[in-house]
Amino acid sequence: MSDGDRIAVCPGSYDPVTNGHLDIITRTSRVFDKVVVGVVGNAPRKAGHLFEPEERREFLEQALANNGVSNVVVAVFRNLLVEFAREHRAIAIVKGLRAISDFEYEFEMNQLNRKLAPEIESVYVIASPEYSFLSSTGVKEMAAFGGDVSDLVPAPVAEALAGRVKRD
Ligand code: ADP
Repeated sequence: MSDGDRIAVCPGSYDPVTNGHLDIITRTSRVFDKVVVGVVGNAPRKAGHLFEPEERREFLEQALANNGVSNVVVAVFRNLLVEFAREHRAIAIVKGLRAISDFEYEFEMNQLNRKLAPEIESVYVIASPEYSFLSSTGVKEMAAFGGDVSDLVPAPVAEALAGRVKRD
């Protein structure tokens, strides 16, 4: 990596990572020189995480390595997103958009982030049709009732979900 590298940050809770997240990260990695996936350590929006931030980071790293995506690193962050992006010299924050409901939330966050860091551009990647109804929350609910999530998440995540549901 060199000084002129165009770096993007892909932030999220990733509790846990889904194939929809991996699709957005992979597509972003083809457009930027480097991608930093930021795992939110303590998301105020979503209380009650199922997986610890470090577990979520490991699932992401493993899945990206298996998919052969090499210009992506994963890091947990607990500070303001724009501060995290600045620390990594990112020029863009990239978010995936599934539906109008995502748009409303992202629209608000965009205005706030723009105010805090006008030099960092927010970029939106539209979900691939096969993943446009896929969310971490939905996957957790399906798994909680014994549903098969193997087509929706990487294999180690599906296994961990099944184990967690049995234990709880
Ligand atoms: P979730 O809403 O599934 O809990 P996160 O908060 O971890 O997701 O989201 C991280 C980013 O990934 C957000 O920009 C979110 O809009 C996006 N995203 C989540 N699931 C998908 C999907 N299936 N397709 C496209 N983007 C997605």
